[in-house]
Amino acid sequence: MNALVENGAVAVVEPAPMEKLKRTVSASRLNCWLQCRLKFYFRYVLKLTKPKTAALHFGSVVHLVLQQWNLTRWRRQPFEIAKLKQVFDTGWLDQGGAIDWDGEEPDQKTSAWNVLEKYFTDTPIKAGELPEAVEVPVEADLSQHGLPVLIGVLDLVRAGGRIVDFKTAAKTPDPEMALHQNGVQLDCYSVLYREATGKREAGRELHHLVKTKVPKLVITPAEPMLEYQRNRLFRLMEDYVDGLDRGDFIPAPGFGCMGCEFLHDCKKFDGGRHE
Ligand code: SF4
Repeated sequence: MNALVENGAVAVVEPAPMEKLKRTVSASRLNCWLQCRLKFYFRYVLKLTKPKTAALHFGSVVHLVLQQWNLTRWRRQPFEIAKLKQVFDTGWLDQGGAIDWDGEEPDQKTSAWNVLEKYFTDTPIKAGELPEAVEVPVEADLSQHGLPVLIGVLDLVRAGGRIVDFKTAAKTPDPEMALHQNGVQLDCYSVLYREATGKREAGRELHHLVKTKVPKLVITPAEPMLEYQRNRLFRLMEDYVDGLDRGDFIPAPGFGCMGCEFLHDCKKFDGGRHE
């Protein structure tokens, strides 16, 4: 039985079927699992929903515009900044929801567009470069390794097989740390790419759009995934499946709690298992 203590009473919550969570796995689920298993429990098992944060909104609208820009090149259409601005303005309104802006919305909106303009000026991807793939949902059946099906979407694969992952950041990333922190995601993309094409990727790239006062673009290249990185990813997937089997949702208090949307729920959590 899973429970949250609410006003002294135990509220029983029906979890999502664990079998469903074990059949497939994704980079975002693995990252959440690594970060804090209790956070995973709240997000994916209990499916607690929280209002969208300003930072999440910023990132999702920037991604929406980049997605449109990639699709434009994929369709061999001309680059038109006015059309992208339209996508940006509409996306900002449509996806806004009930965000607590604390009076910051105009500045945040300006900052989001500024960082995109910076990207379009400085990007190494020139207008004539046709993508190999844009927004492709891919699955990799890893049952031969005793693992779930890995699912994900390849946002952009550049010509020649370079996998790109776009990020928004408040601070300029350190390249070594950026690759370390995004390793699970990059390795998942490599597994998916190899499954979809039967080829090894030519490389991976993190494109950080940094929303400092003067916006920046930081490109961090990475080599193709190596054997040891794939093994490490597979061990993490094993841990994911074993942990779900055991109902291992131990909290991991630390720096990550500062931005955790479940802090309030976490403080009331009673351990989740009643003898
Ligand atoms: S507040 Fe911290 S310990 Fe609690 S669920 Fe969030 S990340 Fe985990």
